Amino acid sequence: MTWYPARATVDLSAIRHNVAGLVDRVGSAQVMAVVKADAYGHGLVPAAQAALAGGATWLGVAQTSEALALRAAGITEPRLLTWLYAPGAPLAELLTADVDVSVAAAWALEAVAEAARSTGRTARVHLKIDTGLGRNGLTLPMLDDLLPAAMAAQAEGTVQVVGIWSHLAFADSPDHPTVRGQAQVFAQAVDAAQRAGAHLEVRHLANSAAVLTTPEVHYDLVRPGLAVYGLSPIPEQASSAELGLVPAMTLTARLATVKPMPAGRGLSYAHAYTTTQDTTIGIVPLGYADGITRHASGSNARPGGPVQVGGRRLAVSGRVCMDQFVVDLGPGATEQAGDEVVLFGTGADGGPTAEDWAQVAGTISYEIVTRLGARVPREYVG
Ligand SMILES: *Cc1c(COP(=O)(O)O)cnc(C)c1O
Repeated sequence: MTWYPARATVDLSAIRHNVAGLVDRVGSAQVMAVVKADAYGHGLVPAAQAALAGGATWLGVAQTSEALALRAAGITEPRLLTWLYAPGAPLAELLTADVDVSVAAAWALEAVAEAARSTGRTARVHLKIDTGLGRNGLTLPMLDDLLPAAMAAQAEGTVQVVGIWSHLAFADSPDHPTVRGQAQVFAQAVDAAQRAGAHLEVRHLANSAAVLTTPEVHYDLVRPGLAVYGLSPIPEQASSAELGLVPAMTLTARLATVKPMPAGRGLSYAHAYTTTQDTTIGIVPLGYADGITRHASGSNARPGGPVQVGGRRLAVSGRVCMDQFVVDLGPGATEQAGDEVVLFGTGADGGPTAEDWAQVAGTISYEIVTRLGARVPREYVG
C-alpha cells in the first residue's frame, strides 16, 4: 500500500455481519448487496466478496463499468444487475459477462436485443418501472407500449424478462402515502408483464430503509446499499446500533504538525475560526481533495466536523482546505506529530460517526463515505 498520512480501515467482518442480519430479516427474499460507487467508497471487490460471504446472492451496481470490473475480478457466480447506462453502453460485453441489465426505455430494449443478436446470448432483462419516484424507469403507459416488443424479443430468444423492479421516493418515511401508492403501481406493472407472458424470477423494490421498515415490499429480492456498510438509512428514527448494524469504515489520519498558537489568531483560510486562548493546534493532512467536505468547516460559532484526538472530542477549526484542516487541540495538549486523529468510525467508543459528519455538513451519511477520495488508501481488516 502506498504510504499516506491517512487511511480508511474497512472492517470486512462488519460487512459480513450486516449482510447476515439483513438476510435474516427478509426471510425468504434474496439479498442483492448494492456495491455501486466503489461500494459506497469501501472498495468494490473486497466489499462485494464480504457481502457474498454474509449471504447476499445478488450484487447490484449502477454503472456498467462496475459490473464488468466485478466479473473481471473473478466474481462470476452471483447474479449481477447493472441499471444506469446511455446509448453506446458496452451491452454486448455485459451479456458476454453474464450480467443482467435493466431496461428503462424503448431504445434500451432495442439496444439490448441487438447486443444479444450480435453475441448469440439471451439477455436477462429487468424492466425498471417509475412507480412514482419520478426518476429513471418506465411509467405504466410506457410499459404497456414496450411489452409487445419485449415479448417479441423473448419469442425470438434474444431477451428474457426476468425481473420487474422499481425504487421508492420516501423509503425513509414508511408511513408516507406514496409508499403504498408505489406498491400498488408496482403490482399493476407485475400484473401487466405477467399477462403479456413474462416469467418473472424476481420482483424487487426495497432499498435499505424499506428493508428495515417495510416488510410488505420485500417481494423476492431486496437491494440494500447503505445498511450493508453499517450506516442507518433512517438516522432520525434509529441509529446503526439500534438497527444491529456495525459501520464498516473508520477514517483516521496522523497529525502532520502540532504547534503552540497564541490567543486571538485566525486559523486557516479567511480566519473563520479565531483562537480564544493560548492554545495548541494540530494539522490534519486530509482535505476536500480527499473527500472531506468543505461544508464541514468550523467557526467559533459553529464547530466543524467532529474528530477524536487522544480520547477527546474536538472539531474542525476553520476552513477545510484542499489537503488539510486545522484542529484547536486546546491549551496544554500533549499530542505530537504522528498521533492519530479519528474522523469517523463505529462510534462504539463514543467516537464520531459518518452520521455525525453528515449532520454538521447538512447532508446524508451516504455522501460522507461515498465521496471519500480515491487517493486515501483503503486498508482491509476482518
Ligand atoms: C443505490 C440504490 C439502492 C441502494 O439504496 P440504499 O438506500 O443505499 O439501500 C437500491 N436501489 C437502487 C435503484 C439504487 O440506486
